[in-house]
This record gives sequence, structure tokens and C-alpha cells, in this order.
Amino acid sequence: MDFSWNADQRALHEEAVRFGASLTQSEVAPAPRIDRNNWKALAEFGALGLSVPPAWGGMGLDALTTARVFEGLGYGCADRGLLFSAAAQLFACAMPLAEHGSSWLKSAFLPDLVSGARIAGNAITEPDAGSDTSRLSCRAQREGDVYVLNGEKSYVTNGPDADVFLVYSVTDPSAGHLGVSALLVPRSSVGLTAAPAFDTLGMRSAPIGQVHFQECRVPCTHLVGQEGQGMRIFAGSMKWERACLFAFFLGAMELQLEACVSYARERRQGGVPIARYQAVSHRIADMKLRLDSARLLLYRACWLSDQGENTMLEISLSKLAVSEAALCSGLDAIRLHGGLGYVAESGVGDLMLDALGGVIFSGTSDIQRTLIASKLGLR
Ligand SMILES: Cc1cc2nc3c(=O)[nH]c(=O)nc-3n(C[C@H](O)[C@H](O)[C@H](O)COP(=O)(O)OP(=O)(O)OC[C@H]3O[C@@H](n4cnc5c(N)ncnc54)[C@H](O)[C@@H]3O)c2cc1C
Repeated sequence: MDFSWNADQRALHEEAVRFGASLTQSEVAPAPRIDRNNWKALAEFGALGLSVPPAWGGMGLDALTTARVFEGLGYGCADRGLLFSAAAQLFACAMPLAEHGSSWLKSAFLPDLVSGARIAGNAITEPDAGSDTSRLSCRAQREGDVYVLNGEKSYVTNGPDADVFLVYSVTDPSAGHLGVSALLVPRSSVGLTAAPAFDTLGMRSAPIGQVHFQECRVPCTHLVGQEGQGMRIFAGSMKWERACLFAFFLGAMELQLEACVSYARERRQGGVPIARYQAVSHRIADMKLRLDSARLLLYRACWLSDQGENTMLEISLSKLAVSEAALCSGLDAIRLHGGLGYVAESGVGDLMLDALGGVIFSGTSDIQRTLIASKLGLR
């Protein structure tokens, strides 16, 4: 493995840090919304098409470089809700479309996603099918040259603001996981209702909500890949998301670590900087250990993915390590700042709240452990 960055990768990372810092924090009250100005700016920077092939307006970067750019954005930009929305669209909507969509579907939708003209949401989770995606009940019945969609999707990131949805539904109930298909469904489709955003604990500018389909007619030309390939397409999108999306948490952890080091040096108690207390300095040492080990796991997962290796084990290890590290170090940062860490206005607790979602979406930590165990031959 070679993780030494070339000049282009270094420049891209530095630009991402600078650009991220130039984005203003989205106003999230009263309801979470995607700030269209910031979205456009992200598109102009290239963030919405980093790994999308140039033929569709993207930069065609590999997974490792894409992740490094998101790491830079995570360091520069405090609005992780915005980054989450962008990454969710790129990895769980644009990439599956780029990899499996027909030429017509790609030309009709991908350039608009990359340019920020349209926003997309990925919809697989249902009220009764979360970790267990083998029990989807959303049904897409073929009638002539349309599919008729009925069902409900929950927790769709970008859902309340999305112009188009990548929806996984059952086309053949007798075929198990081979009976699920992926459809690209425009918001304007009759019978589609996107509910308002939930009020969430973290990444609050990312709108997340339910999407309901009632007798929603979708042209067959909107099928992504072949009928029955839905779960394979979804698994491919999760490889991108679990590996690359989490890179912005690395950047955020780096920034937080620097802030903790500075605070521990400056804050004095008992006549000395608190950094002199072993309890404090060891807490920071653990934060550093967590960050660097999670980062190496993420780089390895992306690098192996770029080599075309079967990386399910490495990607699950990376997702688990980064998400849990962000949560644990986020809590450590609060402890280290004492009462100040508990004051919302200080912003010290923001990363911990943002990291809460990371141990749930893209497969919970329990599910990652189960995947790891199965790769080790334990199941
Ligand atoms: C911030 C955020 C964004 C999201 N974005 C999207 C999105 O864009 N599109 C989308 O479709 N979904 C999205 N989701 C939904 C997310 O994928 C699900 O919440 C997640 O898969 C868990 O499903 P669930 O909520 O139904 O929990 P459940 O599956 O009911 O799990 C509840 C608990 O049981 C545990 N558990 C369940 N099954 C097992 C098992 N087999 N072994 C061990 N433990 C188990 C879980 O780990 C968890 O602790 C998002 C969720 C969040 C929090």
C-alpha cells in the first residue's frame, strides 16, 4: 500500500480545507433545509461529482482521492449536515446511477446532480425494514411500460428537499433478494409525497424524512440496472458510502484534536495548565490514537477498493472505526472542556452530536460487527 500523496492530491486537499472554511453555516431553524447557495458552491468546487466520470460532469477521482477531499472538507467546514447531504447524494445516488444506469438515465439526471441543479435522496429503509433490508415491503408492480410503486420509505437523507429519489422496491416477491429493483423516481411523480424533515440530534442542516408512494407510476426507462439487481446496486453504493463518506469525520476529528491540545495547554487549574495532568493528556493521546488508526483503516479500505479487491471486511472495519472514534472522541472533547463543553454555544459538543448518526446510518455498528464476524468465518 502506498498512501503518499502526489502533488495533485495534496493541492486538492488543501483547496478542500480552504473552500470548506469559506462556506457559511446553514441556518437550520425552524426546519432543516439544504442551503441552495452552499449546495451550488459545493457543486462548483466539484464536491458533488468527485468520483463521477468526467463524461457526466464529474472529476472521475478514485475512492482514496475522493475520501481525502472529503477529509479536507470536514476539516474546513463546520456544517457537517451540508457535507453529509452532499456525500449521501454522491455515494448513494450518483455513483449507483453512474455505475448501473442506462445511457439515457445517466444523461437525463447525472449532469444535474453533479452541477447541483437537482438534489437526490436514496430510499431503502422502511418502517419495518431497517438493518434487515431483506424484508422490504415497498412494491413496484410492472404494468405495461410503467412500474406502479406503493409503500413507505423512512429516514431518507435529503428527502424533504430532493428532486429525485433512488428507490429500492420489490418487483418479484417470490425471488428473495433477487426480487428487489432500483428505480429513479422524480419528485414530480403523481402519488409521491415527501414528508417534512425530522428534527434530529446532529447534522441538523441535513433534511431527513419519510417518502410515501401511493399508486405512483414510474416509467420502466427509470429502472437502474436490470430488474432484480437492486440489492447488488445498493451493496455497491454502500461500499462507496461506508468508505468515502466517513472521511469528513476524520477532518472534523483532526480539527477537534488541535482545539483540545490548545485548550489543555491554555486552561489552568491548580496553578498549572490542565495538560500537565496525566488524566487530561492521556485522554488526548487516546483521541490521537483513535483518529490515526481510524484514518489508516479508511485509507486502506479506499486504496484496496481502488485496486478492485473484495473489500467488504476492510470497509466494515473502517466504517466501524471512524464512526465510533468520532463519537468517543467527541465525548472526550466535552469532558476535557469541563462545563464549557456542556454549553451548546461553545460548539464543543457539536461533533459528538453529529457523530451519533454515523453509528446508525450505512448499517449500524452492530451490523458492521456482524459483517466482520461473518468474514472471519464466525457465522
Ligand atoms: C442520520 C441518518 C441518515 C439516514 N439516511 C438514510 C437514507 O438516506 N436512506 C435510507 O434508506 N435510510 C437512511 N437511514 C436509515 C438507516 O439506514 C437505518 O436507521 C439503519 O439501517 C438502522 O435501521 P433502523 O433504524 O430500522 O434500526 P433497527 O434495524 O430496528 O435496529 C435497532 C437496533 O437493533 C440492532 N439490530 C438490528 N438488527 C440487528 C442484527 N441483525 N444484529 C445485531 N443488532 C441488530 C441495531 O444495531 C440497532 O441497535 C438513515 C439513518 C440515520 C440515523
